[in-house]
Amino acid sequence: MTTMTTAHPEWTRAIRDVSDFPKPGILFKDITPLLADADGFRAAIAAMAAPWRDAGVEAVLGVEARGFILGAALALELGVGFVPVRKPGKLPGATLKQEYALEYGSDRIEVCAGAIAPGTRVILVDDVLATGGTLAAALLLAGQLQAEVLGGAVLVELDGLGGRPRWPQGLPLHATLVY
Ligand code: AMP
Repeated sequence: MTTMTTAHPEWTRAIRDVSDFPKPGILFKDITPLLADADGFRAAIAAMAAPWRDAGVEAVLGVEARGFILGAALALELGVGFVPVRKPGKLPGATLKQEYALEYGSDRIEVCAGAIAPGTRVILVDDVLATGGTLAAALLLAGQLQAEVLGGAVLVELDGLGGRPRWPQGLPLHATLVY
């Protein structure tokens, strides 16, 4: 049910490694050169969409900010709607909120209450899976929406940072690229 692709196609060269960003010791996977490359961007979205084409997805939940870019493109590719999961205070009207722990302190993500009907089949999208805290929080937020979560989709999984073990066993988590 769950895929971890290890062969890296040509277009993956457009993902740039930036050392010590945003903090010393972090190797940042910068997808902006990939986004600027029309063929590469298209190939990346096609690869992310592949495992979900016949899965019955009804909406994509994308996490701010790079999860918006990939998630919105993926939603169009799958022919479904897109729901933004945002940082605190950005969404109008009633929102559902989910706190999650960071290395130091905590953060929060929010979604519009009633953004989708209960039981809507969704996937959760972000660019990078690192420690898994963000996607785990998005999963809880989807639970608050009473969505039926079919799984998660990330372009890049950073192996060994604890993200995958944090994701529920048995729930698909498709990573297009694993580093
Ligand atoms: P985490 O919650 O630790 O899985 O972190 C995932 C979130 O942080 C995603 O929204 C990523 O955009 C961002 N992120 C974490 N680590 C990296 C990294 N090495 N390169 C790029 N983005 C990262």
